[in-house]
Amino acid sequence: MSVLSLARPEIVAMKPYSSARKEAPGRGILLNANESPWPLLTDAGPDDAGPVNRLNRYPDPQPRELVSGLAKLYGVTEVQVLVTRGSDEGIDLLTRVFCTAGKDAILQCPPTFGMYRIAAQTQGAEIVSVSRLASNDFRMDRDQLLGTLEKDKRIKLIFLTSPNNPTGDTIDPRLLLDLLQAAAHKAIVVVDEAYAEFSQQASASELIGRYENLVVLRTLSKAWGAAGLRCGAVLAPEEVISLLRRIIAPYPLASPVISLAQRMLADGMSDRQQGMLSEVQENKKGLLGLLAGRSFITNIWPGEANFVLLQACEADDLLSFCAGRGVILRGYPGEPLLEGCIRISVGSKDELSALKSALDAWETRL
Ligand SMILES: *Cc1c(COP(=O)(O)O)cnc(C)c1O
Repeated sequence: MSVLSLARPEIVAMKPYSSARKEAPGRGILLNANESPWPLLTDAGPDDAGPVNRLNRYPDPQPRELVSGLAKLYGVTEVQVLVTRGSDEGIDLLTRVFCTAGKDAILQCPPTFGMYRIAAQTQGAEIVSVSRLASNDFRMDRDQLLGTLEKDKRIKLIFLTSPNNPTGDTIDPRLLLDLLQAAAHKAIVVVDEAYAEFSQQASASELIGRYENLVVLRTLSKAWGAAGLRCGAVLAPEEVISLLRRIIAPYPLASPVISLAQRMLADGMSDRQQGMLSEVQENKKGLLGLLAGRSFITNIWPGEANFVLLQACEADDLLSFCAGRGVILRGYPGEPLLEGCIRISVGSKDELSALKSALDAWETRL
């Protein structure tokens, strides 16, 4: 049985749209796409990236060089990569391909990233939640997860996040294998690795050749310092990538994005990234140091990502107090599992010292 049988039948049956650029990838005299022969902004288009990427031309839907750079970076083959507008687009595409409205469901483990819920609600899919164990450092509830997956036939997508946002924990590799096995022929297991670079744990992408129902999401937004670029990748078996390609926008990546993303993957960038990652690690120690021993903090979950989750007394007032001093932290009003919790991103040394002053002032105010 193939993953095709898990997808919505109308997506499998659909004849994909064929864009002009797909049919003729940009060589010759291009009179097939109703483009202008000239760009008005001559300095905005990345001329060095070839004629297709000039601003008057539609961009390449999946630029070969970028796809192969990302495949190399993440250790998969080119046919196992779809470049997207951030992981958010990957989450949306997966939900639209695999969940029939009013019939199928996603499984998520809250507290977790909010976009799985938004994608499911947008598509009209049900949301099945297996909460993390608040009393056990927000570990995933293994028995409940496997039990729910076995009982609930509506589940088509399982969103796992490693490291998880906002709890920072990584998935136990044995649990991942058990879930992949339990979900075989039933559901797609999506491992969202937006923060993988900050953690020591091996990427699940190593398993992509072995499980036809495994999808991994990566992004340049966090550990590549390029959230503004809107560039991410879905890594999955070729059959899954082909399904997603059927419904992705015809030209998802703007020419300037393509050219900047290619620069991100150029030689020398990974050394610069390593430098940035060590600085984040060092600053995270500093952040944990400046949080330690504060009377109003009742719990800290350091996690493995570039943020820390904590629980504080009078969290709402603390958040507004810090905001009044120009330091913006993330609170979770209305989320029962995260009552009194605050997420703090690892910033620069200057940013962290502004945070320290705010917390000092709050402490003496009490
Ligand atoms: C930040 C974040 C993303 C979003 O990534 P983009 O590539 O910027 O869309 C995805 N998943 C998780 C868990 C995140 O925290």
